[in-house]
Order: sequence, then C-alpha cells, then structure tokens
Amino acid sequence: MTEPRTLTEELLDAIGYFHRAGHTPATSSNFSVRGLDSGFWVSESSRDKGSMRPEHFLHVAPTGVPVGEEARKPSAETGLHAAVYAECPEARSVLHTHSVAATVLSLERAKQGCVALEGYELLKALGGVSSHEVRVDVPVFANTQDIPALAREVGAWLREERAFGRPAWGFLIAGHGTYAWGRSVAEAKRHLEAFEFLFQVELMRAQRAVERGSLVALRADTFPAAEAAE
Ligand SMILES: [Zn+2]
Repeated sequence: MTEPRTLTEELLDAIGYFHRAGHTPATSSNFSVRGLDSGFWVSESSRDKGSMRPEHFLHVAPTGVPVGEEARKPSAETGLHAAVYAECPEARSVLHTHSVAATVLSLERAKQGCVALEGYELLKALGGVSSHEVRVDVPVFANTQDIPALAREVGAWLREERAFGRPAWGFLIAGHGTYAWGRSVAEAKRHLEAFEFLFQVELMRAQRAVERGSLVALRADTFPAAEAAE
C-alpha cells in the first residue's frame, strides 16, 4: 500500500510542474501549504524553484512571521499568502507564479482593473463553477513593494467577493504574476493551471484583435477606394 504523501511533497510536485512550464523564472514565485498546525509553511526567499526540497519551506505564524529561530527569510510576499488564509478558512494551499502571459495580460488590463473570463469551458475547473455560461472577474492589483498595503487590498476584495458568494480563487498583480489557491494542493494547482491557460487564451485573442485592426488599417491605407466601396 502506498504511504499517504505529505503536503510538502504534494506541493513540491506542483512547484516542479510550474517550473517546467517556465512560470517560475529566476528564483521568482512562492508557494505555501497549510496543515493542521497553526500558521502555514511557505517557500523561503530567493530559492531556485527548479531545485526545491522539503527543507526549503519555513513554518510561519498565521500573520506570516516565522515561528522560532530562523536565520532564513520566508518569501517577501508571505503577507499575501497570510491574507488569503485569513479570509478563506477553507484554503489549504496558495500558489504564486510569474508567467509571461500573466505578466503581459495584467499590464494590458491594469486600467480596467480586472481580466473578465467569460464563456470558456475551462472555467469549470474552478471550484463552484459548473457551466461555461459564467463570467469570472480576476482582479488586477497595482504592483508594489508595500506588501502589507497590498495584503489589505486583497483582504478587502476577498471579503466583498465572499459576501456576494462569487467564486474567488485568484488574482493578478500588474506586470508581476498570478496568485491562486484551493482547498487542497491539488485544487490550488488545478486553479492555477486553469488561470494560466485562460490568460494565454485572452492574450492570444487580444493579439489577434490588434492584428485584425492593423490589417484593416493597412488595407484602408493601401486601397482607400476599395475599402470605401465595401
Ligand atoms: Zn511575485
């Protein structure tokens, strides 16, 4: 019989998946898991995500402050994990990546303040979503090095979403990356995979729209009479 795997081992598998997908470049990204003990376990700062081991996680209090001695530092963004766990008692794992699609799309949609995902079959990968006929707004927060301030913004957004019963499983930070979570490591991984796939799709659609616009402009420029006759 197979021994049940520890939560950290499950998390390491998920980190390996996102690293191989190219979503954790240059020691960026951070990951955490919450067990039955108080607080949670979070990846240590500045660690290459391609060679993570169980000892590369730190036990922190619910506030994100390290428990005990620790000369090592938890990820600089641990406060965002703490904000999610504080507002979502069911959350067991929070995953954060820096993919190209999330970085570009979050900048493109920063002014609107969200990425509206609508009509996609893959939205059903999100907990509580059972049809493609739904719209999920993924908020885009401005990037900042003031993590406590950003954590307060994330907390306020989560309280509102939960008050309205809307599925809230992730957010974007402009020019930075994606945060996603779930009721297990497996669910958090599924949510992040779904978001990353849908962000790539949104980005491709935006690029195609620009290309179509450029083609129309080019045709109007080159063949003004033909364009006018249509
Ligand atoms: Zn980050």
